[in-house]
Amino acid sequence: LFVSITVVGTIGIDSIYTPFGQAENILGGSAVHFTLSAAQFGPVNVVAVAGTDLAGDELAPLRRAGIDITGIEYAAGATFRWGGRYHLDFNTRDTLYTELGVLADFQPKVPEAFRAADILFLANLQPAVQQSVLQQVPHARLRALDTMNYWISSAYDALTEVLRKVDIIIMSEEEVRQFAGESNLRAAARKLFALGPRALVVKLGSYGALLLQTDGSYFAAPGFPLDDVRDPTGAGDAFAGGFLGSLAAVLAGERDLTPADFKRALIYGNIMGSFTCEDFGVARLTRLSPDDIARRYREIIAYTHVETDIPQGK
Ligand code: AMP
Repeated sequence: LFVSITVVGTIGIDSIYTPFGQAENILGGSAVHFTLSAAQFGPVNVVAVAGTDLAGDELAPLRRAGIDITGIEYAAGATFRWGGRYHLDFNTRDTLYTELGVLADFQPKVPEAFRAADILFLANLQPAVQQSVLQQVPHARLRALDTMNYWISSAYDALTEVLRKVDIIIMSEEEVRQFAGESNLRAAARKLFALGPRALVVKLGSYGALLLQTDGSYFAAPGFPLDDVRDPTGAGDAFAGGFLGSLAAVLAGERDLTPADFKRALIYGNIMGSFTCEDFGVARLTRLSPDDIARRYREIIAYTHVETDIPQGK
């Protein structure tokens, strides 16, 4: 069975400053990090806009990874640009600038062949663009969405409208609190579930991620403890790529998704996020083998597995 993911998100030119190094004007964007991660698990189609300043071979890493880039439109003007500075703990960062460029007038046209995708991912970009793509891919079996503080503050109402129509929300802890106006995560989750989605994935940076569902159940997956973090940019998008990519791989095996599949997906999400952090931009994702992923998966399972026997009280 052919199960593909269609994603809409940004293609960006990033400048990143960390306490230990920096990289300027490198390829980034939510769609770029997501697709390079998800492509490790199966076919991915990307809808995005780039400026004419990217008309060279900058997107070659996507093509080489087998990603269908025919849905990338080139518009006259500048590519989306973003700059960020990380603090010592790498879990917090300041946005230095966000220049929308050609993203400001982006009116996505989803190619006919992408509309049959089983999984739709609305990566971080304007909620109005997410909404438009959602309407063009009406039959997806699973719809997931990510967003960022920038859109929560600048397009709250439009974002709320899109949230009503997705199955899974993937947000960072800070963004969940900001959107819901609640400091308690479970209370915030209930507010989000009231809009319609049945699952919330809370990204906890280096600590891992939480999966909360409408039935009150939860699962926590730890972050992979890295020896060396160089640049966490895109870890959230790569997380989503591992999460949804692994679910797509299950659907391709022609069976329905089980709760255990969602738990495994959360682990794959953390693993893909961890690889992203090991080098600047997409450098690590472009030299990653299926073996690297499998090894990290086995290691996490081995070190975090707990015998289920409940000790009897004395
Ligand atoms: P993450 O570290 O997972 O939050 O993703 C960072 C990536 O998202 C960078 O490569 C940026 O180019 C991109 N990005 C930053 N701000 C925005 C925004 N407001 N909308 C869409 N993409 C963004």
